[in-house]
Amino acid sequence: MYNDIFEAIKSYNNIVIARHVGVDPDAMASQIALKDSIKLTFPEKNVFAIGNGTVKFNFIGHLDKGVDFDQLNDILLIVTDTPDKKRVDMEELTHYEKSIKIDHHPFIEKFCTIEYINDKRSSASEIVYDLIKNTDLKINKEICEELFAGIVADTGRFLFNNTTNDTFNVVREMIENYKIDFTRVYNNLYKRPLSEVKFFGFLANNILTTNNSVGYIKVSNSDLLSYGVDSATPGNLINEFSNTEELLVWLTATEDVKNNFIRVSVRSRGPVINKTLELHSGGGHALASGAKLKTFEDVDLLIKDLDNLCKEYIESSDK
Ligand code: AMP
Repeated sequence: MYNDIFEAIKSYNNIVIARHVGVDPDAMASQIALKDSIKLTFPEKNVFAIGNGTVKFNFIGHLDKGVDFDQLNDILLIVTDTPDKKRVDMEELTHYEKSIKIDHHPFIEKFCTIEYINDKRSSASEIVYDLIKNTDLKINKEICEELFAGIVADTGRFLFNNTTNDTFNVVREMIENYKIDFTRVYNNLYKRPLSEVKFFGFLANNILTTNNSVGYIKVSNSDLLSYGVDSATPGNLINEFSNTEELLVWLTATEDVKNNFIRVSVRSRGPVINKTLELHSGGGHALASGAKLKTFEDVDLLIKDLDNLCKEYIESSDK
């Protein structure tokens, strides 16, 4: 499969790389690192990384803006870190000839010509590293540092159970062979303005719990404004609750007035949540999922379903 991907890359001069909406470090890192590796290997090719970004991730790289793809023919589209077509962030691209998916989410649907999916890998970044190492694609220290950022973010600094011996092997190679500056990457990933630290205090003070250990925090637009943070911030802070004894599953539900929906981020320490999220028009991984809901009443329905899920989980663990 890696060879098929490499051959497709080799045979196209115009390559567009996309990833999921609501960019996160793994989506951005897998996309940018693959672009940088293709450019390093084939400098003459046109390679574009598209989608909406955020200044927070500028340390990983920059997206290509204002490209008129209608002027380009024979485009190869590569989508990283995205299991379903509706979540691909590629409004500006309306036509392409061939497509490749590289993903670590549980399978949802086939929408690309070639699909490489491995949901046992920690991150799309880990797979992109593997792809590069198993083909003639080139890599350097900068590309490794981009991929390292994606791996660190998706494994919660190697804390989550998606971390495997493969993950540690990849990182060992990055340190040994490419001398990555992991302190620099950690600083970029985890440095926060004081407003965000204070906002975390607000989240911690306002989390409520259900009878069966679902923690939830509803964040209104005025809460965001009073702390000077944006609607992506609660989701970015959700992993901070990972070691909270009283919580089995927890979520932030944040009003996003710009897009007119409620952004929901959910995490779990045991119960498999993605199937429940799929019933609420969301999805994701077994222990890390999300959804976009219309109202806080919809959030209450989700909380109810997650509470039932936790109840069943607690009862089956007791047996
Ligand atoms: P987040 O809480 O935004 O970091 O998302 C956690 C995981 O859930 C990621 O793998 C996302 O791809 C997935 N996810 C987030 N929002 C949605 C959504 N609206 N629909 C499907 N999957 C989502």
